[in-house]
Amino acid sequence: MTQIYMQTFGCQMNVADSNGLAHQAWSMGCTFVADPSLADIVILNTCAIREKAETRVYGRLGQLKVFKEARPDSKLLVCGCLAEKDREIMRSKAPWVDALLGPRDYRQFKQLLDRWGVATDSPPAGAIFTMPSAEDDPGQDLHQAYAHLRALVNITRGCEKFCTYCIVPYTRGPLESIDPEEIESQIRREVKAGAKEIMLLGQNVNSYLHGSGLDFAGLLRRIKSIEGVDRLTFLTSHPKDFDRCVVDALAELPNAAPRMHLPMQSGSNAVLEKMARLYTIEEYLEKVAYFRERLAGWALTTDIIVGYPTETEADFEKTLDVVSAGTFEQAFIFAYSPRAGTPAATMTPQVPQAEKIRRLQAVNAAQNEATRRFHESFIGDTVRVLTQGPSKKDAARMAGKTGHNVTVIYPRDERTEHRPFVDVAIDQAYNWGLSGIVA
Ligand code: SF4
Repeated sequence: MTQIYMQTFGCQMNVADSNGLAHQAWSMGCTFVADPSLADIVILNTCAIREKAETRVYGRLGQLKVFKEARPDSKLLVCGCLAEKDREIMRSKAPWVDALLGPRDYRQFKQLLDRWGVATDSPPAGAIFTMPSAEDDPGQDLHQAYAHLRALVNITRGCEKFCTYCIVPYTRGPLESIDPEEIESQIRREVKAGAKEIMLLGQNVNSYLHGSGLDFAGLLRRIKSIEGVDRLTFLTSHPKDFDRCVVDALAELPNAAPRMHLPMQSGSNAVLEKMARLYTIEEYLEKVAYFRERLAGWALTTDIIVGYPTETEADFEKTLDVVSAGTFEQAFIFAYSPRAGTPAATMTPQVPQAEKIRRLQAVNAAQNEATRRFHESFIGDTVRVLTQGPSKKDAARMAGKTGHNVTVIYPRDERTEHRPFVDVAIDQAYNWGLSGIVA
């Protein structure tokens, strides 16, 4: 029986892709190991979004060379965005890699396994697929027993927005909407394997448009009838395509997790234009206002880039104003870092690094205020959390997530350890989340 070791770098799209590849291998009779020295096939699913992610992949490839030398008959496959972007570079830098599959090539995965002589034995009747773990992902094993509670389901692949800072359209190709039957059957399969929360994934889920005319709002309505999904959520949205129809569809869902991620990126129209984001800040805030009106009590999260090429102090102040107004419950804020091959990398003037860091700290401080206020609003409430596993900082406690996606820490005991959902009475709020006792 062929043994596979798989390691995933990067975003949730990659995690979902790894899950899909692992499921294909499992359905051919492969098993998974957490130690690459035991594997017949080693798969790295790579990320090219930031330079740091690339450096980690090349470092890992250096380590894996040793395993290849010890077992020359084993195979090393590199998948993901870096495999697409660095095809030629990787062939010369890491010639011990046996095959490269970019995100657009995954349909060739089974053929590749065939070529490598993987015997096709079906898994035993009644066996349930679970995502493999890798020993070098710290904390992964501890949480493996709970990983099946959340499932990632791709609904689109690729993106054709070409934001000027982003490499994704070059590595993942144009937008493709996955057949709704395929999405439904994957959700049913995940629910059967124990999933309680389903996250629909795409670079821009709002662009979903199947050949039958089904759009994202229609897809949400279609899958709401699937039984056993306790929480339905999605990632990520593009403000240009996010519209009232989606908000109205969400308002009809009985099981929608009350959270929405809508990347703003900047509060300045001049910067949004440089980013080619295709909306103005006024349009963005108008959509947020409708979202707040129809979906009261939901959490809004966002992504922000500060120090974008050409960003002036006045541009930056506009971003700071939107954040300081308490627009978001949580924000993921980054200082701009150039990606070779994207238009923004060669725009001038670039903002000096020290200034980027100053802006980053100022926006983070403003957001921390808003996030803390949001968390404090839960003190005295009882919230339902979906178990993540033992707390990484204190194994005597458990960690879980509310429907708003807030981390909650609570005592670990026989009862809490084995339940997918736990009700927790909140008595403390922090910037990072909440803590309490079992209700
Ligand atoms: S919408 Fe923009 S940022 Fe998002 S994947 Fe597409 S190009 Fe990249």
